[in-house]
Amino acid sequence: MNYLADLHTHSTASDGQHTPSKLVQLAHDRGLEVLALTDHDTVAGIEEAVEEGKNLGVKVVPGIELSAREYHIFHILGYGFSIDGTPISKMCVDLATGRWERAQRIVAYLAEKGMNIDLQEVAETAGGVIGRPHFAQVMLRHGYVGNDREAFNLYLDTDEYYEQVELKRLSVRECIDIIKDSGGKASLAHPYQIGIDNEALDTLVRELKGYGLDAIECYYPRFTVEQAAFYRRLAEKYGLYVTGGSDFHGEKVKPDIELATLQMDLDWLL
Ligand code: AMP
Ligand code: ZN
Ligand code: FE
Ligand code: FE
Repeated sequence: MNYLADLHTHSTASDGQHTPSKLVQLAHDRGLEVLALTDHDTVAGIEEAVEEGKNLGVKVVPGIELSAREYHIFHILGYGFSIDGTPISKMCVDLATGRWERAQRIVAYLAEKGMNIDLQEVAETAGGVIGRPHFAQVMLRHGYVGNDREAFNLYLDTDEYYEQVELKRLSVRECIDIIKDSGGKASLAHPYQIGIDNEALDTLVRELKGYGLDAIECYYPRFTVEQAAFYRRLAEKYGLYVTGGSDFHGEKVKPDIELATLQMDLDWLL
């Protein structure tokens, strides 16, 4: 059956602007039937979102977005897993520790560059899990950069950054295993961001299918028509379900991205 859905969104539990309940209210206002909350490396927002979904009649799918280590941006979405006592909630504890330690390394790295960044301020800005976008906000607030993009291009998304600072991440196989062992489904997020050509992506998707990948993100605001068509062909070729979402973070974080209203067959997920 088809549902009006957005399967890729972020809340204050990671680097989104809106609380989980507010996000569900916005989804309700847009007429969505299904919303997946897919915060980076945390399930902390899910209970609140599910609760609000029950109040408003929006079906909230528990979700997460994990970062795999094989590429700078290599994101695996997990959906429909259970939280209590499963590998995924245990992993989130380790990931939170890892992010806290990384935050300390980022402070030291930025200090070397002449920036005096207070970790407490970053933590308060974040509210939940600390991400690089929170550092970008604090750097901007103190006039060290002119905008977010500059913060990433000059400091937070450079080779030096990745060598000195970046998280010790899970392998993609571990990401998929943890999601599946927790009773969930795994989807490859925004494939173009991996930064490899179509032939290499085809090979990669075949490998991921072997690890148990269930789906591939085929709708995303920043896809070109050609990219979307190629991902749908990969879905067909490897027997993967199709997911899609906006990657909504709130208008203050990503001004050009609204919640999506996608018609998707979700019988495999719900
Ligand atoms: P983190 O998960 O803390 O490593 O932060 C990753 C997030 O930072 C991504 O989801 C993006 O929202 C943002 N990001 C990564 N690279 C860039 C970039 N070059 N420019 C702007 N935002 C970026
Ligand atoms: Zn994000
Ligand atoms: Fe992502
Ligand atoms: Fe995302």
